[in-house]
Amino acid sequence: MSHIFPRHTKSAPPTVARGEGVYLYDQTGKQYLDGSGGAAVSCLGHGDADVTAAIKAQLDQVAFAHTGFFTSAPAEALADLLIEHAPAGLERVYLVSGGSEAMEAALKLARQYYLEIGQPARRSIIARRQSYHGNTLGALATGGNMWRREPFAPLMIDTSHIAPCYAYRHQQAGESAEAYGLRAANELEAEILRLGPETVMAFVAEPVVGATAGAVPPAPGYFKRIREICDQYGVLLILDEVMCGMGRTGTLFACAQDGIAPDITAIAKGLGAGYQPIGAMLCSGAIYKAIEDGSGFFQHGHTYIGHPVAAAAALAVVTKLTSGGLVGRAQAMGETLQAALADAFGQHPHVGDIRGRGLFRGIELVEDRESKRPFAPERGIAKALKKATFEAGLICYPMGGTIDGKNGDHILLAPPFILDDSHVEEIVTKLETAMRQVL
Ligand code: PMP
Repeated sequence: MSHIFPRHTKSAPPTVARGEGVYLYDQTGKQYLDGSGGAAVSCLGHGDADVTAAIKAQLDQVAFAHTGFFTSAPAEALADLLIEHAPAGLERVYLVSGGSEAMEAALKLARQYYLEIGQPARRSIIARRQSYHGNTLGALATGGNMWRREPFAPLMIDTSHIAPCYAYRHQQAGESAEAYGLRAANELEAEILRLGPETVMAFVAEPVVGATAGAVPPAPGYFKRIREICDQYGVLLILDEVMCGMGRTGTLFACAQDGIAPDITAIAKGLGAGYQPIGAMLCSGAIYKAIEDGSGFFQHGHTYIGHPVAAAAALAVVTKLTSGGLVGRAQAMGETLQAALADAFGQHPHVGDIRGRGLFRGIELVEDRESKRPFAPERGIAKALKKATFEAGLICYPMGGTIDGKNGDHILLAPPFILDDSHVEEIVTKLETAMRQVL
């Protein structure tokens, strides 16, 4: 009997044996194309020799030294490299062990910032109904996925949620994409005014929505207007790039394509590319200065922040991403993938929308294309597709995502940036096989 506490207690997964390039293999030798990089993690694919060499070299130097006593060379170099490529104004990097930790740090830093500058009434967080920000209590409360939130709601901090920017469902007939973006962003202003601007601490959003929606990009101009509103009311803009960041959408930071910079951002997943558990929170020079000029201490921390081996792995990953042309490749291969998906499924009676940016692509499944009516959750379409694709030797991320906080079925594709045309073909062929079985 296994003593592992598995994700699903009623079914045992196969044991992974090895990984090479875009493929994973289980202990029976079965090959799986990692079409979602796990959960948008494995941007470099599996078995990258440069990253494993960097990890081994760091282990030979020193594995761990607590940040209460030391900084380390890989942590310092990683922070420098990230800031060199980060959106304007971001100046400091706080290294943690994953996405939820990065979001918790972001929320607590926002709160401490307002305490330091003498605005203690600012405590409200506004986020969006279609969002996922992590599974720890603060991050879970911030996210808008009602299914994930519900059992733990009594333990949660109060947050408010506005509509997502979700053109496929909310752009009206005759309304331009720009007009829709403006209308969606203006919901933030209305919510700030409803709560009282002097009480609002932060607005939190994923630039391209991932796990709850299947790669939903914002409408043009949406984030420009969001930035304006945040500035007008002194609200911090926290962008969660845990899934969409680190080159996944075709630029190292996803928000670069929207022409804005946040006050705080969270990254993870692609940062360690699966080679080590690592995340980071980046904050503006102004926020850092408020702490520096005030108490001089960010009242937060975990044992493994700034872990030297994790930092060495991420340094090797980000070096490859920023100097090897891989982010441009993600952009180009993303176009190839989008075209192949549109070719194969564009006319499918149960495919409502195919969307995304770079190698972050989503397919929204509907019972009826005309009315965009989703499948009833009891049909378990996403779950059945996950099983059928896995059997066919394809890993994708078909989550019963959310439509405005409620269930809806989506497939998320986020393959390694190193994939080639033949892998795109293989993804589409295997997806077609699975779709034929399920729909
Ligand atoms: N934010 C977003 C946008 C995510 O997609 C995720 C993970 N799916 C998280 C936060 C949480 O990250 P982690 O699972 O590493 O804690």
